Amino acid sequence: MLQDQEAHAAEMERTFIAIKPDGVQRGLISEIVNRFERKGYKLVAIKLIVPSKGFAEKHYHDLKERPFFNGLCDFLSSGPVLAMVWEGEGVIKYGRKLIGATDPQKSEPGTIRGDLGVVVGRNIIHGSDGPETAKDEIALWFEPKELVSYTSNAEKWVYGVN
Ligand code: UDP
Ligand code: MG
Repeated sequence: MLQDQEAHAAEMERTFIAIKPDGVQRGLISEIVNRFERKGYKLVAIKLIVPSKGFAEKHYHDLKERPFFNGLCDFLSSGPVLAMVWEGEGVIKYGRKLIGATDPQKSEPGTIRGDLGVVVGRNIIHGSDGPETAKDEIALWFEPKELVSYTSNAEKWVYGVN
């Protein structure tokens, strides 16, 4: 059944996804981007940057009381990060499913962390954990003008919307 255009537009959301320095250094960019792309999500923004330690601390601010915080921020700022925004229906929650559990040893096979990572401190990828975080993280990592507005040719086939 075809979905109503307005209902579809109302369900659209955006999430912030980042391939951490371990994923970039291990040559996993295309493998990871491929999983989001083939699912049917739309790439809205993408850039390769080396975040400063201060920037990493901002990104992970809600973890600042955790014992691993300092090491985590050192790690995130240790090399290039591929920062992205992906758009789609349910992409925030389902993006986390594609990523898998925080600890790769608890991630299901078939997920990014389950297939590609072994330890929690090098779990390859970040994804926003909810609508509020997604909004904040997109605003932290991207200028509004870096979010590219375009019509995806695939969309009518992915969603069955005319
Ligand atoms: N992390 C860690 N040790 C832990 C828990 C988390 O090094 O015991 C790191 C890990 O890289 C994780 C990040 O801190 O991805 C953020 O933790 P969070 O609980 O937000 O997990 P995520 O949302 O990334 O699954
Ligand atoms: Mg998190």
